[in-house]
Amino acid sequence: MMTPLRIDLAPDEIPTHWYNIVADMPNRPSPPLGPDGLPVSAAAMGAIFPGPILEQEMSAARWIPIPDEVRQIYAQWRPAPLIRALRLEQMLGTPAKIFFKYEGVSPAGSHKPNSAVPQAYFNKLAGTKRLTTETGAGQWGSSIAYAGQMFGLPVRVFMVKVSYQQKPFRRSTMQTWGAEVFASPSDLTQAGRAALAADPACQGSLGLAISEAVEEAAADPQTCYTLGSVLNHVLLHQTVIGQEAKKQFEKIGLYPDVIFGPCGGGSSFGGIAFPFLADKAAGDKRAAGLRCVAVEPTSCPTLTKGAYTYDYGDASGYTPIMKMYTLGHDFMPPGIHAGGLRYHGDSPLVSQLFHEKLLQAVAVPQVATFEAGVQFARAEGILPAPEACHAIRAAIDEALRCKATGEAKTILFCLTGHGHFDMASYDRYFSGQLEDYDYPAEAIAESLKHLPQVG
Ligand SMILES: *Cc1c(COP(=O)(O)O)cnc(C)c1O
Repeated sequence: MMTPLRIDLAPDEIPTHWYNIVADMPNRPSPPLGPDGLPVSAAAMGAIFPGPILEQEMSAARWIPIPDEVRQIYAQWRPAPLIRALRLEQMLGTPAKIFFKYEGVSPAGSHKPNSAVPQAYFNKLAGTKRLTTETGAGQWGSSIAYAGQMFGLPVRVFMVKVSYQQKPFRRSTMQTWGAEVFASPSDLTQAGRAALAADPACQGSLGLAISEAVEEAAADPQTCYTLGSVLNHVLLHQTVIGQEAKKQFEKIGLYPDVIFGPCGGGSSFGGIAFPFLADKAAGDKRAAGLRCVAVEPTSCPTLTKGAYTYDYGDASGYTPIMKMYTLGHDFMPPGIHAGGLRYHGDSPLVSQLFHEKLLQAVAVPQVATFEAGVQFARAEGILPAPEACHAIRAAIDEALRCKATGEAKTILFCLTGHGHFDMASYDRYFSGQLEDYDYPAEAIAESLKHLPQVG
């Protein structure tokens, strides 16, 4: 029987709940700690997050209902399609079946609105008057700008300066959706002014932009902070991806042997992998041999080369410290790096599950990553976001291994977004300006000397 190439779900098959993996983890997550080394109180976190988001952040309930207001907005693009990359399989000559869950169909062009929409909704519900956030390449900033617009909430975005200069269209996208956008470091905050005083040419980093956005939210009781990855509630929201994918595989009577996702802060990876890990936890035989693999760049090798320890979420040390894989909070990604996924840390949930060997990780070099993206675009037509190309690289490598061994595995990867705003990066690839870069072990060791001291 021929497998259909595109597996769609009906509108009423949008998930009704988010899946919280905390309920199924062998060990409880380590709590975030404050400057005193004690778990951060809900009251302290309440300075920057609204109540309902905090509850989700700390919840151990397995299922959390998705409000109808959120599902109605999800319905603008969800359920997202599961697509079989048959032409790519043929191009590779692999016996493997390759499927991708395509999240580029959202208004912002990535998976990020899956969390931006509920974050804006719960803030509105709690009476928040304004949102702040940071953005690197602009994907999260545009997602929260869009979501803020859906619920009538003003949004202020601190955009890493190098991206602000290199990605002007992402900035105008945010402005179109009504957001204010500032290059970070800015002179609006103490963190920004300090960075500029230390180095007037500072190109910024995600960690620094987080410091600016958190500082503003903490200073104003009516302003709350939003984050596009890393935290438990963000991964929770993203589980709509994996839940839908499971249903889609059920429709065609298949189950993946291996799942690949790009991993920056880990939200889309957790989002696609966790609902399948739930099957594993429940003893589902189909999931017994399943591998879930986070794919990261060799230039920012958080899981594969970082340390599993407590560190700050931002550069300036404003955030609570979290137990996670980290390259050190003062990690500065090399300017040469074009593919995104540059955060120094990783989701504490993904980190813990990786540490406990329930998840795997691999790092791929930059040039091969773009090569995979171009090969994918030529086979399937869709032009992938550079971040997503990391997962494509790993999926192609797996399919080529299958070709060598003759195994007909079912491979799933998360195509987290399209790359229409990232053509400058593709240009750099086509003109041979991209180099492979392994973040040096000595630089990691140096950064790790500045870890916060815990107990
Ligand atoms: C932000 C982003 C990522 C990485 O973030 P995660 O939280 O690790 O998912 C990957 N792909 C795209 C398209 C993104 O915008």
